[in-house]
Amino acid sequence: MTRVEVFNFSAGPSALPTPVLEKAAAELVNYRGSGLSVMEMSHRSREFQDIFNDTKAKLRAALGVPESHEILFLQGGASLQFSMVPMNLSAEGDAADYAVTGNFARIAAKEAEKYCRVNVAASSEATLFDRIPAQEELRLDPAARYFYYCSNNTIYGTAWNYVPETGDVPLVCDMSSEILSRPVDVSRFGLIFAGAQKNMAPAGLTVVIVRRSLAGHERPITPLMMSYQRMIDKDSMYNTPPCYNIYLLGLVLDWLKEQGGVEGMERVKRARAKLVYDYLAESRLFRPCAREGSRSDMNVTFRTPSPELDAEFVKLSVERGMRNLKGHRVAGGMRASLYNAMPMEGAVKLVEIMKEFEVTHHV
Ligand SMILES: *Cc1c(COP(=O)(O)O)cnc(C)c1O
Repeated sequence: MTRVEVFNFSAGPSALPTPVLEKAAAELVNYRGSGLSVMEMSHRSREFQDIFNDTKAKLRAALGVPESHEILFLQGGASLQFSMVPMNLSAEGDAADYAVTGNFARIAAKEAEKYCRVNVAASSEATLFDRIPAQEELRLDPAARYFYYCSNNTIYGTAWNYVPETGDVPLVCDMSSEILSRPVDVSRFGLIFAGAQKNMAPAGLTVVIVRRSLAGHERPITPLMMSYQRMIDKDSMYNTPPCYNIYLLGLVLDWLKEQGGVEGMERVKRARAKLVYDYLAESRLFRPCAREGSRSDMNVTFRTPSPELDAEFVKLSVERGMRNLKGHRVAGGMRASLYNAMPMEGAVKLVEIMKEFEVTHHV
């Protein structure tokens, strides 16, 4: 199949915009007349330093990151932040609030238990993470050093449609699977992090946006590589950063700007997901997994009445060039990840084949 015949619904690593890949291909061997590939450049070279600074500035502009916050380009995936957050933001014996609304939030809370007293402020585990708690349901610990949540639950297909109100307690948010898909008031957050491979760049880069005043209080045992302050002091270059991924993020941010920025992304993501949810509402075969009011526009989860039919549908979808619609192994069913790079036609095609499948497999 050719690239235009395929729609990639992968939850991550996920689709990148075709024009970005084409630009990267054109510059791969000889970056803008330098005679070098970006992959071969010293991270201390003038050429790479320009790429690095530009990318950081573009990200600051795209998200409206205030000067009070530092942008870091780290490694270790979003998962390393599960440890870095408690090591840097809490001291022994401190408490931290965690909203457990999905698999990754649950892992983060478990990891934090090694370092501090975890208060589960809310959990939807009993109903298989099908919903997001309302503000009134959050049981906040007034002594918590921070409030942790995951704004978009990649596996279960739920998303917070509000920013929790926690008074003076800083918000820490895992935005891996929705960053750059909608405007966000960064000033309300103490720390935001995101693995790049969902909505930003290839796997290997983790973006951290941290309020400067929160850094510099890490525990003495914190590894150098895991200290926010050290990375702020060294502008993410304490060691070799993931250079090529940072360059690709820059290309993605150029593309994003041409598409109208995060506001443009938000308009498209609403329309794209609505198409699928509207069909799910009327389908007599498929049903959505997440409850109304908690549904994600980025990861749409759905299923048929049986795992066998689910498998049959996935098989048909692959034949039609729709890749990676199988749900996560812990959740089952199907999952259509509709990230920024997914064109509207992808959602249109998906609904088309769901309809076709429903006609032939109506129960
Ligand atoms: C994918 C994902 C992670 C894990 O990311 P890694 O980079 O593989 O560590 C964590 N949180 C969320 C919300 C994710 O979608």
